[in-house]
Amino acid sequence: MSLTIHWTDHLTGIMRRAADPPRLLVACDFDGTLAPIVPTPAEAALLPGMEEVLRSLSTAPGVHLAFVSGRPLEDLKKRVPIAAAGFIGSHGLEMQGHVLDGVPGAAAAWRGRSPFIADAIRRRTEQLPGVFVEEKPLSVAVHYRHACSADAAAVQALLQDTVNGAREFRLQEGHMVTELLPAIGCDKGTALCALADRLGVPRSAVICCGDDLTDETMFTGLPNALSIHIGPGPTAAACRADSPADLLQLLQHVDAARRKNLRKGSCGS
Ligand SMILES: [Mg+2]
Repeated sequence: MSLTIHWTDHLTGIMRRAADPPRLLVACDFDGTLAPIVPTPAEAALLPGMEEVLRSLSTAPGVHLAFVSGRPLEDLKKRVPIAAAGFIGSHGLEMQGHVLDGVPGAAAAWRGRSPFIADAIRRRTEQLPGVFVEEKPLSVAVHYRHACSADAAAVQALLQDTVNGAREFRLQEGHMVTELLPAIGCDKGTALCALADRLGVPRSAVICCGDDLTDETMFTGLPNALSIHIGPGPTAAACRADSPADLLQLLQHVDAARRKNLRKGSCGS
């Protein structure tokens, strides 16, 4: 059982932390955070009303927005049509916007390898119904949301064998998906730290939101941030929200807090 409190029980503190810093960095995961979980990754879309609040936040005084996802950068940008934002894709391996651009050198060497790795995994999983191998620019994700538990276990064992035989890989577990990534010490947390540092935003002036195991790297990597876990389950986050719809309300409060401060003339830009 998680001891993390619901954000409405910490509303006064959240409003203060949203309003007081001269500059604020709001970083959100996409799937399960800004967009409801759907049967296949291709169907995912922003929750109705979310684009409006994000657009408003993107022009709120002193606010930097960032979207941090396991999705490839280009896919993430298509699904979140907010131009004035930073985008961190592929679990921190790709970055664009604000002051960060590009791919870490060690990850760039992976660009041509994903098709071969994906094909090898597909050949070994094609007899398992409900298993879907997704090729990404810098990684390979194997989804088993629609597979039986025995087949899901077989996939995990196969991927673990692959990693055991090659230290250049690491596995990233998510909701009914396991991802094979380059083992170069880069994750959502390290990428968000780098973004905050480049922007000159103190980590205590970061709000980070996410629903999945991969988002825990943000919560543990920025322990002074205001961290929000979406959904049930154990987490290192300070607060939780019940769903993307619940997070939408929190973001509306953050937006209102920044704009209230603007009227007082106490915020930086
Ligand atoms: Mg997610």
